[in-house]
Amino acid sequence: PVPVLAVVGRPNVGKSTLVNRIIGRREAVVEDIPGVTRDRISYDAHWNGKSFTVVDTGGWDPDARGLAEAIRAQAEIAVTLADAVLFVVDATIGITDADEAVVRVLRRAGKPVVLAANKVDDQRQEMEAAGLWNLGLGEPHPVSAVHGRGSGDLLDAVLEAL
Ligand code: GDP
Ligand code: MG
Repeated sequence: PVPVLAVVGRPNVGKSTLVNRIIGRREAVVEDIPGVTRDRISYDAHWNGKSFTVVDTGGWDPDARGLAEAIRAQAEIAVTLADAVLFVVDATIGITDADEAVVRVLRRAGKPVVLAANKVDDQRQEMEAAGLWNLGLGEPHPVSAVHGRGSGDLLDAVLEAL
């Protein structure tokens, strides 16, 4: 069986866009409205001759529970089934309470985590990405899921974690 990478993070940080970048196809649903991704969709991915499965997450019932709790629950399930986790943060916004809630889940799970500082579309945003060292999850990997900037280095880090 190929290793499983779960992509987690709060809504709108660009998880589905990054999944499409990783798999090289536009299959994950990207939406400006948070919460459009259905629960845990799996895709085949390949990098440097290695194969793995990418699991996109998102989607929740906003009426059922608080947002942070819903994201936390999603992350919990995804992390349980994964060999490694790609935690996506929007570097242009920085760390929010919902991000912190995900971090607590990741710490407890003890699985390898690769931190993606997304929406670093150009050099100017690199500084904001560096601020994500404060999450205590190691090196933030600056990436632009939309433009592809930094995605090769990110995937190298993913393969090391899997
Ligand atoms: P998800 O909810 O985490 O799956 O986020 P989506 O992938 O659906 O993206 C949410 C919004 O962020 C969409 O409007 C994307 O086009 C935008 N987005 C995603 N990645 C990037 C990026 O690298 N740079 C910029 N500027 N926008 C991005
Ligand atoms: Mg999504």
